[in-house]
Amino acid sequence: MEPALAIVRDERGRSNRRFAVQLADGALVQAVLYRDDTLCVSCQVGCAVRCPFCASGANGLGRSLTVEEILGQLDAVQALLAQEHAPALHGVTLSGIGEPLHAHEAARAFVAAAGRRGLRVTLTTSGGPIARLRTWLVEEPHQGLTLSVHAGTEAVRARMVPKGPDLASLFGTLEELVPRLSRKRRKRTALAYLLLAGENDADAEVDAFVARAKDLGLFVHLYAYNPVASSDCRAVDRARYEAVHARMVAAGLTVRMSAQARIEANGGCGTLVAIRT
Ligand code: SF4
Repeated sequence: MEPALAIVRDERGRSNRRFAVQLADGALVQAVLYRDDTLCVSCQVGCAVRCPFCASGANGLGRSLTVEEILGQLDAVQALLAQEHAPALHGVTLSGIGEPLHAHEAARAFVAAAGRRGLRVTLTTSGGPIARLRTWLVEEPHQGLTLSVHAGTEAVRARMVPKGPDLASLFGTLEELVPRLSRKRRKRTALAYLLLAGENDADAEVDAFVARAKDLGLFVHLYAYNPVASSDCRAVDRARYEAVHARMVAAGLTVRMSAQARIEANGGCGTLVAIRT
C-alpha cells in the first residue's frame, strides 16, 4: 500500500525531532519524536477546540485523519529509525495536532493497531464529547489518558478550552467513573494543568482546581508553557511555576512537572502546526 504520508522535513532539536508530514491531499501535519523513544502523532488537520495558547488549533479544523494516515506517521518514523539503526520506539501518543475524541473511530482503531505492535499507547484529550470520554475512560485499550483541564473555575475553563466540555460535566463524569476503574487503569488516568501567566496562575484558581481534583486520587501533570507565534498567551516564570507545584503538592495532589522534552520550542506541547488544503 502507498504510504498515506511522506516526511517532508525533519527538524532536530536538543532532544526532539519534529517531522512535517504531507498527506495525500496536500495537507500538512506534524509528528514529534521525544527522547528517541516516544512518537507523538497528529489525528486531525487543525483542531476545533481552539485553545488560545495552542498553535495546532489556531486556524480551526480542516478534517480528521483516517486511521491509515495516523498509522502512516508511525510507519514512516519507524522506517526512518530502522534505516538509521536507531533504537526502536517504546511508545506512541495521540497528543499532537487535533482532539482524539473528535476523531474517535480513527483514534480507537489506531490505539488498537499500535498496541498490537507492542507499543505503549497514550493520548491527551480536552474531554469532549462527554459520551466518548466515558468510553475512553472505561473501555478503550490505551495505557495512559491525560485529560486537559487547565482551570478551576468555569469562566477560566471556557477561555482556556473554548469548545471543550465544562468543568461540571468533566468532574461529574470523573467522580462517577474513576472509583469504578481498576487500580491499574486509575494510575493510567491523569489530569493536566497548563500554567499561563495572568490566565490561570492565581492562587484562587489553582485552589479551585485542587478542590475539584483532590478526592479523585489522579496524577496531575503541571505543564509549563511554550510560547507560540500565533498566541499572546505567556508562560509564568520558573519561580511561579515551582510555587504552584508546591501549592498543589501541599494540598495533597501528586503532581509531575513538565519533562524538558515537553517544554522545548521544537515540538513541545502546543507548538505543532497544521496546514490545511
Ligand atoms: S491544545 Fe489540543 S484540544 Fe486544544 S486546540 Fe490544541 S490540539 Fe486542540
